Parts: sequence; structure tokens; C-alpha cells
Amino acid sequence: TATPQQDDCLFCKIINGEIPAERVAESDRAIAFRDINPAAPVHVLVVPRRHEPNIGALAATAPDDLAALFALVTEVAEKEGVAEHHRIVFNTGTEAGQTIFHAHGHVLGGTTFTER
Ligand code: 5GP
Ligand code: ZN
Repeated sequence: TATPQQDDCLFCKIINGEIPAERVAESDRAIAFRDINPAAPVHVLVVPRRHEPNIGALAATAPDDLAALFALVTEVAEKEGVAEHHRIVFNTGTEAGQTIFHAHGHVLGGTTFTER
């Protein structure tokens, strides 16, 4: 593939099919798969195929991929029955809880959130 990837990146390996994941949707620019440790009844990660370390870097470097990421978020939310009520979370940096340094959004739903 011509999409920039990083060989020691877990999400690049999932994108490549080297590591399995439960995919729920995909497009030419992004893929969506279930979080291995769900924090809500619906917890799907939406991930650009392009390797960038966080969502800000993706927005700066590849705005078309950012737009495609959000298009896939909408598709996932509809498929998962949470189109009317969901959260989209992007963590940037370790202190914010980022553990995988390949940009991704968490799509969370299927419950009532009471805290920010
Ligand atoms: P972050 O903390 O970086 O925002 O989110 C990383 C997410 O990736 C976590 O919610 C974690 O549960 C999830 N995760 C980590 N390793 C794997 C894996 O091997 N497969 C899947 N499907 N999710 C993973
Ligand atoms: Zn990566």
C-alpha cells in the first residue's frame, strides 16, 4: 500500500490484517473495529489508514483523511444504532490517556453518560 504506515504500530498491523480485530466498517481511507476493552455497550475505534500520531497531526497533514474519518464515524453510529446519541473521543498525549500513537476516535454509545 502507498498509505504511510509505521512497522511497530499496533493499529497499522490491524489495518494490514497482521493482527485480527472485529471490523464493523471500512472505507478506502479509514477502518472501524471494536475496542478490545469496551468502556460502553458500543465502543468502536475509527482509525485512518494513514499513520499519524494523533488527530491534530492528521488534520494538519491530511484533511481529506480527517473528513473520511468522520464520514466513517457517521456510518458506524448508524450501523450500531447510536446515531442519535453517542460520544466521539480523541485522546492526545499520555496525560490525556492516549496509549496508541496512531490517530483514532472512540465512538461510544448505548448507555447514558453522566460525567464529562
Ligand atoms: P487510547 O487510550 O490510545 O485513546 O485508545 C486506545 C484503545 O485501544 C484502548 O481503548 C484499548 O482498549 C484499545 N486497544 C488496545 N489494544 C487493542 C487491540 O489489540 N485490539 C483492539 N481492538 N483494541 C485495542
Ligand atoms: Zn500506525
